[in-house]
Amino acid sequence: MEQKKILVTRLFPEIGLDLLEKEGFELTRWSEDRPMTSAELVDNCQGHQALFCTVTEAIDRKFLDQCRHLDIISQFAVGYDNIDVDYATSLGIPVGNTPDVMTEATADIAFGLMIATARKMFFNHKLISNGEWGYFRPKGHLGMELTGKILGVFGLGRIGMAMARRCQGAYDMDILYCSRNSHPEAEKNLGARKVDFTDLLGQSDVVSVHCPLTPETSGIFNETAFKQMKSSAIFVNTARGPVHNQVDLAAALASGEIQGAGLDVTDPEPMNRNNPLLSMENVCVLPHIGSATREARNGMSRLAAENIIEFYQSGSVPHVVNPQVLGRQP
Ligand code: NAP
Repeated sequence: MEQKKILVTRLFPEIGLDLLEKEGFELTRWSEDRPMTSAELVDNCQGHQALFCTVTEAIDRKFLDQCRHLDIISQFAVGYDNIDVDYATSLGIPVGNTPDVMTEATADIAFGLMIATARKMFFNHKLISNGEWGYFRPKGHLGMELTGKILGVFGLGRIGMAMARRCQGAYDMDILYCSRNSHPEAEKNLGARKVDFTDLLGQSDVVSVHCPLTPETSGIFNETAFKQMKSSAIFVNTARGPVHNQVDLAAALASGEIQGAGLDVTDPEPMNRNNPLLSMENVCVLPHIGSATREARNGMSRLAAENIIEFYQSGSVPHVVNPQVLGRQP
């Protein structure tokens, strides 16, 4: 096999890159600690057969039109809303992703945000650093207990299940879920009940979002949705920022339509430091760190590399989001 060249778009954990080099691939590594501009990405992609990329790259129609020569796009992430997969498919380019390996890490962040929001942890931390600890106040800083409450999972896949398991194990929470399909394993093992979107919103004490960002889910948590939630409810989003309408979310929190929000993802990212959400006492925001454990990121690097290696060795891609293109000879 002639030596294939791979463009590596960010400073990824070495484990996958070492694997690729061991297999004889030639790597071009973008060495700056920032994403390339669209123009840089197109320029650098020329002369490369494979792309090792992540959510910071816009792999859109414009990019793909100029990089039709790619054999494979290997995404270092489970989500792939930055990639126009339909268009890549029409060009016969397989798109790989890295599921499973960050499931527990991301569920930990959802679970942590739920607790932190219920108890206003980030706000209280800020009080101390502002020198405003003051006196013990018997009626001050009251939050919500989670034991026995109802968790509503929107998008019961790998991470949604891991969040549900945590909430049931730690707090004996009842689990509701809203997904397109039934998930019998969750119903059997966790007693989870499938409900429609309206019931999920109306009955849950915590609504946790775990769906992919798609045209159907984009902006689904909007003014109408927040109005249907309990005024005591907490909204947690560790999926993708545009699944919620952030202006509507801020308004719902300010008017007391919902109690709190824990966000690992925002719209846009990064969040502006003056965003009103950052000064609300019932809001906890993190800078998209769901998969940021050494274990998860190493796993993602390894899977993204294996997708490329397998593709050139056998024509199959272990984790492919558009399997219909496989079978084409590289
Ligand atoms: P997954 O296993 O594919 O689960 C997603 C679930 O969403 C699916 O089981 C699907 O169930 C459901 N779903 C899809 N479309 C839906 C819709 N229109 N309405 C309701 N439910 C819908 O994926 P995952 O590994 O759990 O990851 C979920 C998402 O988390 C990723 O797409 C990514 O965007 C995000 N993520 C974020 C971080 C972070 O750092 N914050 C890290 C990893 C992942 P049905 O087929 O039954 O509808």
